[in-house]
Amino acid sequence: MIADLRGRDITDERVLEAMARVPRELFVLPPERNLAYADRPLSIGYGQTISQPAMVAIMCQATGVREGDRVLDVGSGSGYQAAVLAELGGDVHTIERIPELVELARKNLRAAGYERVFTHVGDGSLGLPEHAPYDAVVVAAAAPSAPPALYEQLAPGGRLVVPVGGPDGQLLELVVRSPEGPARVSTVPCRFVPLVGAEGFPAV
Ligand code: SAM
Repeated sequence: MIADLRGRDITDERVLEAMARVPRELFVLPPERNLAYADRPLSIGYGQTISQPAMVAIMCQATGVREGDRVLDVGSGSGYQAAVLAELGGDVHTIERIPELVELARKNLRAAGYERVFTHVGDGSLGLPEHAPYDAVVVAAAAPSAPPALYEQLAPGGRLVVPVGGPDGQLLELVVRSPEGPARVSTVPCRFVPLVGAEGFPAV
């Protein structure tokens, strides 16, 4: 998997090393364990997926998380991305709207030894103000635009990475909090499940 990622423009060795340390097989459902290291999303139930490894790597690379950074991971899913962010040295809070998936993420993180990742149930489109400010916010679900609450919860110089667009496809947007206001760069095309919430899409 790591050799594949290197060939796909993932150049940050810290990200590659962090991903090499996380046992992805502990974050996928047992029937799909043989596919744990394939570069593809996999179902985790409730109509949701564990993200494709290349996308996890791109988002981690974009946020540049370092030792001691405060990090908010929106859309816990299986807990895999939160584990990679913790391996990068982040103090990670992860929030998920589906309570059963919060349980799954908690169980997976515990089984893989990530006792210091804090899991929360709630609408992550509104962030998690009680633990803000964050040096990095990573959103693993597609929003109509970068949620203002998430920008407001960034520390100065903090970085928000979020897929922006509709159900047929999005562009990954990196938003940096600067004294002049949000500095935005759109990067790669991507396809995520919708961010469902007050600053996302309505539930259907
Ligand atoms: N990062 C996850 C992983 O490593 O397994 C994959 C996340 S999956 C692609 C997107 C997740 O975002 C889903 O579990 C979904 O329920 C969640 N989600 C959607 N809207 C949300 C919201 N407003 N707040 C929190 N989680 C949300």
